[in-house]
Amino acid sequence: MTTDTLSRETASLLAGFGIGPEILTAGDFAVTSPIDGSRIAALRRHTPGDLDPMIAAAERAFLLWRAVPPPRRGELVRLFAEELRRHKPALGRLVSIEAGKILEEGQGEVQEMIDICDFAVGLSRQLYGKVIASERPGHRMLESWCPLGPAGIITAFNFPVAVWSWNAALALVCGDPLIWKPSDKTPLCALACNAILGQAVARFGDVPEELRRGLSQVAIGGSELGEALCDDRRVPLVSATGSTRMGAIVGPRVAQRFGRTLLELGGNNGMIVAPSADLDLALRAILFAAVGTAGQRCTSLRRLIVHDDIAETLVTQLKRAYAQVKIGNPLEPGTLVGPLIGESAFTGMQRALDEATRDGGQVFGGERVLAERWPDAYYVRPALVEMPRQTQIVWRETFAPILYAMRYRDLDEAIAMHNSVPQGLASSIFTTDLREAEFFTSAMGSDCGIVNVNIGPSGAEIGGAFGGEKETGGGREAGSGSWQAYMRRMTTTINYSRDLPLAQGIKFDIETAP
Ligand code: NAD
Repeated sequence: MTTDTLSRETASLLAGFGIGPEILTAGDFAVTSPIDGSRIAALRRHTPGDLDPMIAAAERAFLLWRAVPPPRRGELVRLFAEELRRHKPALGRLVSIEAGKILEEGQGEVQEMIDICDFAVGLSRQLYGKVIASERPGHRMLESWCPLGPAGIITAFNFPVAVWSWNAALALVCGDPLIWKPSDKTPLCALACNAILGQAVARFGDVPEELRRGLSQVAIGGSELGEALCDDRRVPLVSATGSTRMGAIVGPRVAQRFGRTLLELGGNNGMIVAPSADLDLALRAILFAAVGTAGQRCTSLRRLIVHDDIAETLVTQLKRAYAQVKIGNPLEPGTLVGPLIGESAFTGMQRALDEATRDGGQVFGGERVLAERWPDAYYVRPALVEMPRQTQIVWRETFAPILYAMRYRDLDEAIAMHNSVPQGLASSIFTTDLREAEFFTSAMGSDCGIVNVNIGPSGAEIGGAFGGEKETGGGREAGSGSWQAYMRRMTTTINYSRDLPLAQGIKFDIETAP
């Protein structure tokens, strides 16, 4: 593989989505592939000033889109899913090239897009409201849901297509146009998704130009564009996925203008392995959750809390498995671990390993590999670190394949250790003891948004609400109820009597002349 090969393949994949080669050399916004560090495009960068007409176009599109009946809006999402099925191999491959995921996981991301579209199509006929018993005679009360307005969507590099689609599919059936600020590391995936949605819009029929132009737009650039979206009152919802650092900026900025946020931030996910666990299952689950996607999932397993009685056995087996994992070009069959997204991820990982060592941790793996073959790319052997206790470094999310292993003696201690970190995204327990499993999933158990038994913390299905508590931000995407974040709730009271009774029995009458 040469540098040229990747950029040529990228151009040809994009051409398949209808994106011309001129876009790939239109500016100075460099896009590189983490596979070999080579430049695959130089895009034109949007400025915050460019956002103004984009938001205005989204506002105009909103006026038209909100009037389209929801099931008809669902038809657009159904067509989008058809286009995604057609483009799945190519889009999955682009995800691998731009984000460095192995092909299997790139394809999996596109499948997740298809799944959420199917979900949203059904939802388009189920945006249910409520009829409420009124305390006043001859009155009827209703709660119903109306479209909200343009949805600003900020996404992270590690799920460059799926996370947008979780938002986009629901927002579209809810009646909201989209303005997407993708990660500056994965803008090509965003352009591809938008082009594929454009093909669905072309098939939808009867789309006025104003709607076509403003229904879904992509702004290419860095955090300055995200901040501009946060500050603009015309964007009632900002759904932001990324680090807790980013969320701590986005949350207050949007709140300052009383906008709504949906925050999907960092995780620091744990697994408790109890003495009764099926160790073979646990081992396979740990491997996928800690090593898969090169440890670059928000739900990646980062903390292993193992019972003293089985710790020795499990850690020995894990070390053996870690040593066998094939690291390399994510486009090649058989590879399980691709590259880190870039140099800063690598230095962050090494810094964390140094700190863990200073805290008394024993590091296995974690070194850079394949540097002679790809000097501008960052491949690492996943690290397993045996920690004497849960120190500060374990509390922080390091976005790299580091698994800290710690020991416990009783379940209360393990759960307390598990819940003591600032993040609250995904968690799991491996046990065959019913009491332990039930306790972990009870109000006294895990404090996370995702709580699993006998599966790892990563690899969610779109049918369940996705998101977490504490510093993970509290947002929920996909699953039940999350569509309500994209809509405005309306309470309506209709008086069909000939009287005007007031709520709470208040009398406020005046004498009227006979
Ligand atoms: P990041 O926070 O660096 O960037 C995410 C996005 O936010 C990018 O589009 C970036 O340009 C934008 N951004 C950065 N600063 C901003 C600011 N001040 N204002 C507005 N926008 C800003 O994250 P990343 O490195 O791309 O992704 C990894 C992080 O994302 C990890 O912490 C991971 O756990 C998290 N993540 C969370 C979820 C989830 O669902 N909870 C999913 C995927 C990733």
